[in-house]
Amino acid sequence: MKPFSIYNTLSRSVEVLKPLDPPTVTLYSCGPTVYLPQHLGNLRSYLSWDFLRRALELNGYRVRHVINVTDVGHMTSDEDEGEDKIEKTARAEGKSPLEVASFYLAMFQHDLAMLNAEPPQVWCRATDHIPDMLALIERILAAGMAYVTKSGVYFDVERYRGTNQLGKLSRQSLAEQNAGQRLEHSPDKKSPHDFALWVLNRPGHLMQWDSPWGRGYPGWHIECSAMSMKYLGETIDIHTGGMDHIPIHHENEIAQSESATGHRFVDYFVHGAFLVDKSGAKISKSAGKFPLLSDLSAMGLDPLAFRLFCFGAKYRSELALSDEGLRAAQASLDYLREFAGNVPAEAVVPEDSDFATRFRDQFVEALNDDLNTPRALAAAREMVAEANRRGDRKIWNTLEFFDRVLQLDLQKTRAAAQSTEFPAEVQKLIDERAAARRTKDFQRADRLRAQLEAQGYEVKDGRDGAATYRRRAR
Ligand code: AMP
Ligand code: ZN
Repeated sequence: MKPFSIYNTLSRSVEVLKPLDPPTVTLYSCGPTVYLPQHLGNLRSYLSWDFLRRALELNGYRVRHVINVTDVGHMTSDEDEGEDKIEKTARAEGKSPLEVASFYLAMFQHDLAMLNAEPPQVWCRATDHIPDMLALIERILAAGMAYVTKSGVYFDVERYRGTNQLGKLSRQSLAEQNAGQRLEHSPDKKSPHDFALWVLNRPGHLMQWDSPWGRGYPGWHIECSAMSMKYLGETIDIHTGGMDHIPIHHENEIAQSESATGHRFVDYFVHGAFLVDKSGAKISKSAGKFPLLSDLSAMGLDPLAFRLFCFGAKYRSELALSDEGLRAAQASLDYLREFAGNVPAEAVVPEDSDFATRFRDQFVEALNDDLNTPRALAAAREMVAEANRRGDRKIWNTLEFFDRVLQLDLQKTRAAAQSTEFPAEVQKLIDERAAARRTKDFQRADRLRAQLEAQGYEVKDGRDGAATYRRRAR
């Protein structure tokens, strides 16, 4: 079996993963700014990192995963300009910034749980880590890569980069990198490219802390460097984020981190592509209207259909959200669950039938080939189709193995379908139906059958008057 490999934005190539301290893999994912609900686009990103994490675990790695929570310092543009996003919502909703952040963080964590995304070992909030950020800024200053002015402590980008050197990630010159940005030159910054590590003298900002340079608050980029170093060490294996983070946020994280430590910040930078709408536009909060996970249940979809929808596309490819696509994912989910719900006890054997091995290899190989989830999903589906064709359902171990990454609750589905214990109200309907059948009141028996079916139960009447009841796979 080929080892796990992944596309590294730093080298622009798919590389075999070589963690610094195997079997541990350190994984840092840039987290959300918690000022609005996370839309399906945001959730797609975190699902990709969940697929990554579980694929690594399938390979025997122990992943230490950290996700940060931005609750201060992210301005309405990525370039330090505009208003603090959290404070903007706080003013609009008449709440404190802490209330806003806690509310939207809880909503995000709830959505991730609905999607069977494994929580990281550490959730870290920026406002809980101000001392770590101050200490890191001191190191950057000591290295001569930052300077203090009246309006803040700034990272000296030109000093670090030189005017001609290309960015490590974006491979663009500063001029190219900034062509698409609205850089405002505050009078006391040496260069418009310099970014704030610490912001001073903004009396209107609600959240402020003391610092060696005066009261103020951190810039957005410094939080990720400080928290990833605190929890994962000065050099980490994998750092993830959306493609939008390449030119500014991650370029800045590298610059400030490597200036402070003098060594490499991240070995593998992994970036995810966007979820787009039908017209190809990125789903974004700035558009004003954006789809949420809760909208899917109104369409009669299971949240895990969205998980499967994302699994069906490669993390590096744009994915277009559509009703048809979501419904197809739901149909795929139903197909796998229908099978799981119908695996009888005698098909659960220590060794699966031989043909399962081929699909198991295909599944792992696909994941190990730059996290090719669509190919892995195809292998899972084909195995089930093959089992149906052969009438040989001895593939349960392999299916459960796939579900360690797929996370479609296949085990739960089977357990529910196998269960002969029914909730009290269902048992009552079953008993009433049995009585109706005994007294040959078939109209009543049919009404009760319809009621049971509406509640998700399958009813089969045997010739001898016995009936079997089973929870449907979905
Ligand atoms: P934000 O809260 O906008 O900073 O985004 C949080 C994370 O979601 C970042 O890693 C973004 O790159 C990612 N993200 C934002 N919009 C989308 C989208 N439409 N598709 C995929 N990821 C997204
Ligand atoms: Zn970050």
